[in-house]
Amino acid sequence: DKEKLKRLRTAPAATLDGTTVQLFANIELPSDVEPVRASGATGVGLFRSEFLFMNRRGLPDEEEQFEAYKEVVEGMKGMPVTIRTLDSGADKAIDGQEITTINPALGLRAIRYCLAEPHIFNVQLRAILRASRFGKVMILIPMLSTWAEITQALLAVAAAKEQLKTEGVKFDEYVPVGGMIEVPAAAIALPMFIRKLDFLSIGTNDLIQYTLAIDRADDAVAHLYDPLHPAILNLLAGVIRTAQQHEKPVAVCGEMAGDVDLTRLLLGFGLRNFSMHPAHVLTVKQRVLSTSLPDIAPFVARILKTDEPERLQALMEKLNA
Ligand code: PEP
Ligand code: MG
Repeated sequence: DKEKLKRLRTAPAATLDGTTVQLFANIELPSDVEPVRASGATGVGLFRSEFLFMNRRGLPDEEEQFEAYKEVVEGMKGMPVTIRTLDSGADKAIDGQEITTINPALGLRAIRYCLAEPHIFNVQLRAILRASRFGKVMILIPMLSTWAEITQALLAVAAAKEQLKTEGVKFDEYVPVGGMIEVPAAAIALPMFIRKLDFLSIGTNDLIQYTLAIDRADDAVAHLYDPLHPAILNLLAGVIRTAQQHEKPVAVCGEMAGDVDLTRLLLGFGLRNFSMHPAHVLTVKQRVLSTSLPDIAPFVARILKTDEPERLQALMEKLNA
């Protein structure tokens, strides 16, 4: 059985009909690299860098961040490492950031905060770029919703590159810059994200929160937090389809990506890049290995046309049978 598990870990993730699927892992700290390697994941799809900033006095300086990013990049031995820039605010507080008590989830958080505090953003971008020469780094920007934010974020990356170049510091000139699709506006106005960014990653945790107006941290409404709401399914299918039509790489890095009951559904939407907690990688891989894309297609098409919860449940059961 141990042998079988080991074989599964190293086996490429592909469907029965031979379609390759990327299974990446989400991490919070450099110490998470070991479980990622053990899981058989072939990259880091989401490094939640804010965890380097949380639960401490002061903020990590460029050197400290650089060391942390480099440790992850080297630990992944050439496999892609997607470093998300600071996604603080709301439920993820850092020193010095004032969290508005009006509605923190809608406040000055993530990229909004970074653009309001350009020095903090610049320090982080420099550290990430410096780590990029030790492997395959990708930069992921959270919570984008407007043209101006995308433009300003890209300008900040370009400025950090210019500084490093002037200083003679080495980095990967071609480090891809992508954006999280986690605000409904981004999913709806997708073409502007496709045009300006190198890749997309759908953050279903926040996309569900903002689309359904359900605070993801509020137990009183937890029963209403529904990944299978027709609005969510249609948004997701639409984003994945549109990205594919434009040949723009798209991943899902929210909790949905690690839920084995949703693997076939996402595959049916056309998703080929999943990023999840390392603990889920093998289970999801097993499901991918047992899936035939032509067989599931009719069920997925019917699921997208259904708005009756009971009918949807029945179809989900057939899809996963
Ligand atoms: C998400 O919103 O789905 C996501 C992956 O980011 P986080 O959970 O860190 O907000
Ligand atoms: Mg998020």
